[in-house]
Amino acid sequence: SKSNETLMQRRNAAVARGVGQIHPVFVERAENATVWDVEGRQYIDFAGGIAVLNTGHRHPRVMDAVKRQLEHYTHTCFQVLAYEPYVALCEKLNALVPGDFAKKTLLVTTGSEALENAVKIARAATGRAGVIAFTGGYHGRTMMTLSMNGKVAPYSAGMGLMPGGVYRAQFPCALHGVSDADAIASIERIFKNDAEPRDIAAIVIEPVQGEGGFHVASPAFMGQLRQLCDLHGIVLVADEVQSGAGRTGTFFAMEQSGVAPDLTTFAKSIAGGFPLAGVCGKAELMDAIGPGGLGGTYAGSPVACAAALAVLEVFEEENLLARSRTLGEMIGSRLRAIAQDDKRIAEVRGLGAMMACELFDDQCRPDPNLAAQLVARAREKGLILLSCGQYGNVIRILVPLTATDPEVQQGMDIIADCFAELAS
Ligand code: PMP
Repeated sequence: SKSNETLMQRRNAAVARGVGQIHPVFVERAENATVWDVEGRQYIDFAGGIAVLNTGHRHPRVMDAVKRQLEHYTHTCFQVLAYEPYVALCEKLNALVPGDFAKKTLLVTTGSEALENAVKIARAATGRAGVIAFTGGYHGRTMMTLSMNGKVAPYSAGMGLMPGGVYRAQFPCALHGVSDADAIASIERIFKNDAEPRDIAAIVIEPVQGEGGFHVASPAFMGQLRQLCDLHGIVLVADEVQSGAGRTGTFFAMEQSGVAPDLTTFAKSIAGGFPLAGVCGKAELMDAIGPGGLGGTYAGSPVACAAALAVLEVFEEENLLARSRTLGEMIGSRLRAIAQDDKRIAEVRGLGAMMACELFDDQCRPDPNLAAQLVARAREKGLILLSCGQYGNVIRILVPLTATDPEVQQGMDIIADCFAELAS
């Protein structure tokens, strides 16, 4: 019979080494917040396929919508023969994305592709080529997004220099000594030392950094970014690939920032487990590129569009935005309770249900070892966790918003037990 170990051996022999794997587990089946592996072991899923399953594994609504779509057509290519679900989804997103102005939307397949296209649109709209991105930021694994990532290893290590014209600003992060004022000063320094504002097409920021460690940009900082962009005619791009689709308690995190970005990228949980991503923003920017300049063979697949439309219905029907806020409070209070007796937790932070805790050693240095041990020990106890952070020392929680209270509490119990067992 199948075992994780034999499948891992086959995987290691057949799959490129660069494709990492956090857990040495092969899945057999999944349902809402539970996964079963090929050996019949059951786990609570606090990873959600990296922020993709805000509506849980195989939500019945999503499954039904996909099944219905499969009965009609699975692919025509939207640029050859169009279909209504693509248009209906764009209409819905134009209304959901923050910003009191006319909007248009482009659908693609992956988050990286959404970021690539946001940069293309900003370049075409401004006639400029420069991009400002942030320390610790993560935007994808394509060449331009590798350039924009504020972390080299492992993403672009060994691949040589990435495309030019990307300038690095500091992401504000009090715990690591970067204030909002420092972060703004780092942008002013780019304007002074590296490139004039009139050569910068876009500033690209995650309102809550995902891979970078769940750092939340303050509304005040976002307001200052908005002002800088307005002053210099720079396109403000909010990368909501990880923070979007209800994770932070509003459908998009930027709704809590008090300002509207010009362009918003989305992906992951938008389609409940199917590959879909896109860019939504100011109509005149979105229309800057001529016909044929945007798209892709599978971009906006009808199956994924049907799934996304169902996800939006689930959010309404199950009141998942309120649920996201409630879960955030529940998870935050559990993490703070652990932190009270455990000085290795340097900070508990997040927005809505996008919650994390950052781990330090007894010298107040980032402790990636402890994070790795926690992730491994939690798995042994039946909980799938993910770490993140520039130093790999942050434990993040991305439990489905559809998980029940007892499931979430059980997962938090396991985290508490792991901290206790891994006593320093
Ligand atoms: N932007 C952010 C904020 C992300 O978290 C990710 C994925 N972790 C991406 C972009 C890239 O998305 P994808 O992996 O679908 O290309």
